[in-house]
Amino acid sequence: MYLTQGLHRASGLTPRKIALREGASSWTYPALLEWAGRKAAVLRSHGVLPGDRVALLGVNSAAYVSWMLACWWMGAVIQPLNTRWSAAELSQGLADGAPRMLLVDDALASHMDDVQVPAQTALWFMPELEQQASSATPAVDVRAGGDTLAAILYTGGTTGFPKGAMLTHSNLWSAAVARQASVPTAQGSCVLLVAPLFHVAGLGRLMGQFLAGESVLMQRGFAPKAVLQALQDDAVTEILLVPSMIQMLLDEPAFSSYQLDGVLRVIWGASPIAPALLARALEAFPQAEFVHAYGMTETSALVAINARVRQGGARGESVGRPAVGVEVRILTPDGHDAARGAVGELAVRGPMVIKGYWNQPDETARAFAQGWLLTGDAARLDEDGYLYVVDRIKDMIVSGGENVYGAEVEAVLMQHAQVARCAVIGVKHERWGEAVHAVIVPNSNDAPDAEALHEHCRLRLATYKCPKTYEFRNELPMSAAGKVLKSVLRQSQSSPRAAVAAAL
Ligand code: ATP
Ligand code: MG
Repeated sequence: MYLTQGLHRASGLTPRKIALREGASSWTYPALLEWAGRKAAVLRSHGVLPGDRVALLGVNSAAYVSWMLACWWMGAVIQPLNTRWSAAELSQGLADGAPRMLLVDDALASHMDDVQVPAQTALWFMPELEQQASSATPAVDVRAGGDTLAAILYTGGTTGFPKGAMLTHSNLWSAAVARQASVPTAQGSCVLLVAPLFHVAGLGRLMGQFLAGESVLMQRGFAPKAVLQALQDDAVTEILLVPSMIQMLLDEPAFSSYQLDGVLRVIWGASPIAPALLARALEAFPQAEFVHAYGMTETSALVAINARVRQGGARGESVGRPAVGVEVRILTPDGHDAARGAVGELAVRGPMVIKGYWNQPDETARAFAQGWLLTGDAARLDEDGYLYVVDRIKDMIVSGGENVYGAEVEAVLMQHAQVARCAVIGVKHERWGEAVHAVIVPNSNDAPDAEALHEHCRLRLATYKCPKTYEFRNELPMSAAGKVLKSVLRQSQSSPRAAVAAAL
């Protein structure tokens, strides 16, 4: 069970198959293997040893992928860094991982200003080492696998500073196999990868495709027009998106001029999708199967997958049944199993779950209870084992003793024509403990009408769930993974900006 195995296998079975494309360039499986082998030799020549960390800072690219594979080829551990981190955060990440080498995409050279590179870390820009690789003799693949560490991958940083999840070869491999059992990769499939490789969803999908021996088209980031062009012209059959990306695609003014019938599968995950947005997406990709994925960095991206979203019905909002090999429990606040159907904290166990966080024994101890990973997500299970993710526990609002799930209120607000995007958070309230507060990005330049929005909510939600205050902004703070940073919104409530909120 080692991560380069899929590439060796595909190379033997289908040597002419394209593994990776970027722009006008493409690599067959044997070519990608050769590239990885040469680069592994370069890493060795610079003193990188099995078990060493190699930090990677780059936008998605074929070169990035080949360096990743080269690390695994020689038994090293990748430490992908978030391209949106500040110099201080990058310095912190490097101090945390203490990598033997830091490889930087030259497009991000300016990100390195003011970054403190540890003394033991050799800094290289990718093109310099690429050149050395072109004349290197390929190293032999050490085929490190099983419980060998493959990656230190940082969590999304939605609730605090990201934690380094220690993902082994076996973790990532198990997730890919379980994913394949739930939503098989068809022969001839090509995934367009725009989700960043420094997050688990992008990395997991890439490896799933390689283990299945199919193709990946890389784009350097998410640009709606370029994505639509590729979906139309580049024989792409599948795309992995987060809801905020789906919205940006659909909002692209020229959207309807693209021919998207070739897209056979749209997978989304990472945060809840508003039903109104999902309905638009289903219509916009008429031929596509819609797949809802739920997972986290700590589970190698996989917990559950619902491939029957288009069929709708009561289970349309479920994240599906837990994938093969995933055990789940729903826990009460005192750690007992909740009654079937009741909401509680989701705990997960299985071969894709990490054993802990890098350098963070306290966080690890907090995250696990008797071998079960505590996800921090509130969820429920129905009679047939379908899982429903309700909200993050940290984002849950307790108002006057009642639990309010922001996602439910957001879904209602998103049905209103004036609302382009929104986030619902709890703010301190003298009488209720917390009050529901809606932050809204309006759809047009017209002055938004808080009273009309309130009326809209009042007709559809219990009174205690209706926002007490509304605030209008031009945009919402987002993480690199495309999630709304509610912690940032909550912090800003104590600042003078909150004065713009219209009290009702
Ligand atoms: P951090 O742990 O650093 O605060 P994060 O939890 O956002 O950040 P990830 O591991 O990337 O980091 O995200 C996993 C989380 O994303 C899950 O725990 C869950 O809260 C949310 N999530 C993932 N998929 C879905 C989904 N399909 N629906 C709702 N929420 C989801
Ligand atoms: Mg998390």
